[in-house]
Amino acid sequence: MTVHDILEFLNTSHADTLFGRARTVADTAFARSVFVRGVVEFSNYCKKNCHYCGLRKDNEQLARFRLAGQEILAAASLAVGLGAGTVVLQSGEDAHFDRTALGGIIQDIKKAHDVAVTLCVGDHDRDTYAYWHDCGADRYLLKLETTHESLHAALRPGTSVAKRLARLELLQAIGYETGSGIIVDLPGMTDAMLAEDILRLSALGLDMIAAGPCIPHPQTPLRGAVSPDIEKSLRVIAVLRLLNPVANIPATSALDALAQDGRLRALAAGANVVMPSVTPVDVRDAYALYPGKNTSKSSVPDAVRALLHRVSAAGYTPVADRGSSGVFANRQGDAND
Ligand code: SAH
Ligand code: SF4
Repeated sequence: MTVHDILEFLNTSHADTLFGRARTVADTAFARSVFVRGVVEFSNYCKKNCHYCGLRKDNEQLARFRLAGQEILAAASLAVGLGAGTVVLQSGEDAHFDRTALGGIIQDIKKAHDVAVTLCVGDHDRDTYAYWHDCGADRYLLKLETTHESLHAALRPGTSVAKRLARLELLQAIGYETGSGIIVDLPGMTDAMLAEDILRLSALGLDMIAAGPCIPHPQTPLRGAVSPDIEKSLRVIAVLRLLNPVANIPATSALDALAQDGRLRALAAGANVVMPSVTPVDVRDAYALYPGKNTSKSSVPDAVRALLHRVSAAGYTPVADRGSSGVFANRQGDAND
């Protein structure tokens, strides 16, 4: 597939055909199964200042929270009880959860439950990543956000695409199932740039690939800068599925912030994973990466069950499987040959 082909898909007047083709590819790899991952958002402290994110250090209006180790374990246990085969630990870059502290939490979860653990906790050094892997973490999600150097550097002060890519390579070398992704329609991003991002991501041999809309947060420099377009993100997901037939592709929660059925539409466009939040209700409003996130007023069990019910009603089967990626399975097979 070329940039030109992707541009045609992004602008096609036959989106249903694109979505149908992508879903057929997903059906071949996963049948109607949808992997369920419970996300524990355990700290909204962050030392970084990403321009798109409500957790950025300079957002002084945000009430900050950290969960205690026991609370994280309880949320993980709740996720498992509700049918998640993977627990995702996500946070801002919070020095409080250093190598040892987070390592202990990973060990506790792995001791208590037969689940996969995914980390999504940002930029750290090689030894820290390796230590967490030794503690039992199976997967790591580190989004490139955009592969365009000047846009990346402008929106993520102090970092670069090269550094983020080097970390992804480290994570793959350590043995993590590795995920990355992009934010669709960042300000300054053209469709041609988006098409290049899709091709570059797809060349990385990733186990998980995420794409979701940029939702401007009022307490960030991007306030009012973009009008999120759910349709564009759905098309990106479909193209990613065509290019990555066996990778795990989540129906990102940011889609649900734009439309009530956003995640279901992503499944119909080829996604195969849902990642409901299992963060305790008293703090989850404060995990405000973007507006509209975690605004459900239901209890965690009610919200997760309602999501899984909607997934089932749409003709899919939520599964508690660990849901390792086909890419990873193929890599392990090659290594054993
Ligand atoms: N701090 C870690 C993980 C938590 S942030 C990190 O940055 O890697 C998780 C993801 O939230 C980011 O990768 C980014 O893609 C997404 N995000 C943050 N703000 C957003 C916004 N306004 N709209 C859409 N996605 C956003
Ligand atoms: Fe921090 Fe991640 Fe938000 Fe950047 S995207 S400010 S690293 S939580």
